Amino acid sequence: MTVADHPKCGAGGLGCEVLKNLALSGFTDIHVIDMDTIDVSNLNRQFLFRAADVGKPKATVAAEFVMRRVKGVTITPYYGAIQDKGPDYYMQFQLVICGLDSVEARRWINATLVDMVDPENQESLKPLIDGGTEGFKGQSRVILPTLSSCYECSLDMLTPRAAVPMCTLASIPRQPAHCIEWASILEWPRIMGDKKLDNDDPEHITWLYEKALERAKEFNITGVTYSMTQGVVKNIIPAIASTNAIIAASCCNEALKIITSCSPFMNNYMMYMGDEGVYTHTFEHEKKEGCPVCGTLATDYEASGEWTLDEFIERLKEKPDIQIKKPTLSTERRKLYYAGPPQLMEMTRPNLDKKLKDLMDSGEEVAITDPGLPFSLRLNVIFSK
Ligand SMILES: [Zn+2]
Repeated sequence: MTVADHPKCGAGGLGCEVLKNLALSGFTDIHVIDMDTIDVSNLNRQFLFRAADVGKPKATVAAEFVMRRVKGVTITPYYGAIQDKGPDYYMQFQLVICGLDSVEARRWINATLVDMVDPENQESLKPLIDGGTEGFKGQSRVILPTLSSCYECSLDMLTPRAAVPMCTLASIPRQPAHCIEWASILEWPRIMGDKKLDNDDPEHITWLYEKALERAKEFNITGVTYSMTQGVVKNIIPAIASTNAIIAASCCNEALKIITSCSPFMNNYMMYMGDEGVYTHTFEHEKKEGCPVCGTLATDYEASGEWTLDEFIERLKEKPDIQIKKPTLSTERRKLYYAGPPQLMEMTRPNLDKKLKDLMDSGEEVAITDPGLPFSLRLNVIFSK
C-alpha cells in the first residue's frame, strides 16, 4: 500500500508500478507499507527488485530503488502490516492508494478511513483509491469515505470461485480444467484410496496431469498441460505484469486528479477485462443501504426461530457479504456466544444448541464481532413465519 503527498500503498505487483508512477508524476512525499519480503518468484514482474534483494523487505528495497532513480522524492518505507498503524498515522496523509492482495486488509483500511471521518473537519476525509488484479482482470476505484460507496458496500460483488457441477466433471467435461478437476476430485480417491493428495509433490501432479490428459483426449479437449494442472489443483491465478501496469496507471491517474484538481476524478469504479480482447467499463457503484461500515442502521436479517444458534452462525458464515469465521454474538440483554476467551466460550457454548426463539425476540438486534470484521456488525434478526 502507498500513501502520497502523501499517498501510500503496498510494494508488490501493483505497488512497484504505483510507486514508480507516483514518483514520476511529481509526488514528493510518499509512504509505503508492505509486510512481505522479496521472493525469487517476484522478480519476473516486481521490477524494483533484483536477485540480490531476495529475502529483504519489499517496502525498504522499493523505496530505496525509486529514490535512487527519481530525484526529489522522499519515500518512507514501513515493513509491517497496515493494521500496525492507527488513525493518528493515517491522518497525516492526503490520500491512500491500496494495492493489497487480501480482502481482510482492504476491509480494515476501508473501515478505518470511514471511521476517521469527522464531519466538522474536512481534512479528516481521506480518499481511498483501491486497485486489484487477478490474472487478466483488474479493477480500480475511488472511495470517498462516508460520501460514496465504500469497499464494504461492494463486498457481495466478490464471487466465490465458480464451482463446476460434479455431473459435468463425471460425465461431460467441456474444458481442460474439468478434466484436471475430474482427475483430482474423482480419480485420485478412486484409485489411490486413502492416500492423501499432496499438491506440492511433483509425482502426484504428474499422475493427475497424465490422467487428465487421457480424459481430455477421450473428449477431444485440448490444452491440458502440466503447469495448468498445477494451477488448477493449487487454485493459482497467475499474476500478469501488464494487468498490474494498467490498473496501477489508473490508480495513479486518479491520485493526480484528486490532489491537483486538474480534472474530475473517476466516479467511481473501473473494471478492466483483458482475457478476451481489451475492455474497460466504468460505472458508479452505489452506496449499499445498511452497509455495516458506512451506513448507520442495523441491517434486517431474516431467520427462522426454529434454527439453533449454531445453525444461525453457520448460515451467517455462508453469506458472501458478511464473511465471518469465528464470530462472537450478543444482544443488548445477553451474551449469546463468545468465541473467546475460554471461560466465556465454555459459559456460552450450551446456547449453540438452543433455538433462536428461546434466546431472543423477533426483531432483536444482534451485535456480531469477528477477527475478520474490522467493525461490529449489527443485525435485526427477524423471525420468518
Ligand atoms: Zn459502505
